[in-house]
Amino acid sequence: MDKQAVFAQVANLEERIGELYGELGSLKKKIMELLEENSKLQIENENLRNRLERQTHKQGDVSVPLGEGFDALARLYHEGFHVCNVHYGSMRTEGDCLFCLSFLHKS
Ligand SMILES: [Zn+2]
Repeated sequence: MDKQAVFAQVANLEERIGELYGELGSLKKKIMELLEENSKLQIENENLRNRLERQTHKQGDVSVPLGEGFDALARLYHEGFHVCNVHYGSMRTEGDCLFCLSFLHKS
């Protein structure tokens, strides 16, 4: 057995694993960005839908009941994303967010 060759092979493998690890890291970052972008768009969409709903119900000054939009935001929060203005659309990494909770409770 050529020990030199085996060592070279292991070193080569180590290098490739290092590269793969780096690639995995950047993919993970990209997925994170996409998820956050997606949640931001969802929030935006719900806000626009709510505004539209409120506008169509404007006549008579009836207070508009909380619609589907609100449910969607609550769901998004429970999926682990911020829906508050402070951290807007980013992933919740530290448990509950007081800004989100107060936003969801007053909406
Ligand atoms: Zn929040």
